[in-house]
Amino acid sequence: MEQLETVDGLRAWVRAARARGGDIGFVPTMGYLHEGHLALIDAARREARHVIVSVFVNPLQFGPNEDLSRYPRDPARDRALAEGRGAEAFFLPSVETMYPAGAGTRVEPGEGATRWEGAARPGHFAGVLTVVAKLFNLVQPDVACFGQKDIQQALLVRRMVRDLDFPVRLVVVPTVREPDGLALSSRNVFLSPSERAEALGISRALRAVTEMYRGGERRADVLESVMQEALRLSPGLAVEYIAIADPGTMEPVDRVGPDTVVAVAARAGGTRLIDNVILGQGLDDASTADEIENPSGDDHVGRSAL
Ligand code: AMP
Repeated sequence: MEQLETVDGLRAWVRAARARGGDIGFVPTMGYLHEGHLALIDAARREARHVIVSVFVNPLQFGPNEDLSRYPRDPARDRALAEGRGAEAFFLPSVETMYPAGAGTRVEPGEGATRWEGAARPGHFAGVLTVVAKLFNLVQPDVACFGQKDIQQALLVRRMVRDLDFPVRLVVVPTVREPDGLALSSRNVFLSPSERAEALGISRALRAVTEMYRGGERRADVLESVMQEALRLSPGLAVEYIAIADPGTMEPVDRVGPDTVVAVAARAGGTRLIDNVILGQGLDDASTADEIENPSGDDHVGRSAL
């Protein structure tokens, strides 16, 4: 696997891959890879002959009081994991490479960016879309894979691709979880054992709401109360929001359907966690990290979410 750190090196790899023929699949990440990221690499490999993974902790998408400086990093391990999963190239640019002095142009997110994560983290999505647009321009992928775990991000990237005419197809991969339900996240390393136990309340609440939906409940306010009640069983969680929203706009809905997104953000100690479910799909349609490490069949990533 080739490790690329400069724009020129990356562009040379892209040219060579194109010359060899076949599509380019792209998996952008902030590193500290886990089975969720690796499921995106698996998906990209199914979609494209050449797969490139980027690792870049994008300062633009962190607020001043967020965890940029302590964000976990281990590029050597990331590289080995990406290679093990069949990636052909590994792009590891520096901050100066991505944002040379004076680089001030930003992508302004469209509809769907103001609520939930957008409200909790001002400027976050402008930072995300700016780096994704730059990476798309550098890599020029045919297909790019994103996780349902960051569902509002996936929606806004999809809108940007449409609005700014990027010639790239997006694949959204269902959230990979620990066997007990906790959504995999690079930030999970910050959780103490007791915080981790509390954090499980999030997936438990999402499961409770899915059960209610399956039982026929369609009123969003009732489902929200069920979520709140379930989350109260984990008093160590500080809930930031519960979204019951349309997947296309992230606007709240009164009545839910199979496409409705239920998304949560909560803090366990100093660690901010997000998770979501699409009601018609539930939590258990996606694979657990366990199954992915020991796959029994080829198609071990569930349905695309959006
Ligand atoms: P990050 O490194 O956290 O910026 O994530 C990079 C990509 O991996 C994003 O598209 C995330 O949505 C995706 N991702 C993160 N965690 C998971 C997970 N548990 N399952 C599936 N995809 C994930």
